[in-house]
Amino acid sequence: MPLTGVTTVTFDADDTLWAFEVGLLAAQRRLREEIVRLTNETAAVPSVDEMNATRLSLDSEAGFSETTLDVRRREAIRRSALDAELHGDSLIDSLFNLYVSTRVANTPLFPDTRPALAALQGRFQLGVITNANTDPAELGLSDQFSFVVRADAEPYRKPDPRIFQHAASVGGYKLSRSVHIGDSLETDVTGANNAGAISVWLNRRGDMADPSASARHVIRSLSELSGLLGVD
Ligand SMILES: [Mg+2]
Repeated sequence: MPLTGVTTVTFDADDTLWAFEVGLLAAQRRLREEIVRLTNETAAVPSVDEMNATRLSLDSEAGFSETTLDVRRREAIRRSALDAELHGDSLIDSLFNLYVSTRVANTPLFPDTRPALAALQGRFQLGVITNANTDPAELGLSDQFSFVVRADAEPYRKPDPRIFQHAASVGGYKLSRSVHIGDSLETDVTGANNAGAISVWLNRRGDMADPSASARHVIRSLSELSGLLGVD
């Protein structure tokens, strides 16, 4: 039976609407290439894995753990460049901009994303609730969503129900009449359940479900949403 009474459909972004890792890897490689090109200390240039470790270490470092993802990324780039004896604000800015533009240019939408959004558009209010910082408009999805809530700019993140409540206040809808779709059991499914939204787990790879995070519905592709929501 299709769901009834739903007014609003919200989506996670990374690995739900687009393949985040593809763009991330491309950006990390391009950044390293550029540092190698600029430095005279090629032997000191960290590997992609080392640069990634530097970036991730900031998530728990005092002074950085509460900052935005962009601040942490820029600081990680600054430290990696410094290892190769490259420094200076304008140089770090240009490396940061290169990193971001490469990531955006190389992040593909999943093939089912545009058709699924087109099928739902006009029938439901559509929104995005993401813990990350990519703007859907940067990837060509500028007209599809009525609102985009990025936890990066808020004091709480999924699975905290307050980020869902914030989205509901931005979009002016009742959580009980909303569906939230995402690839993460930990953040999307648990968060939606805690907030009183209808959770849909997007399980693209056919992973084993974790019984502690039970989704109200499970789909393998966004193309299943129109059936779930009763759209012909
Ligand atoms: Mg995700």
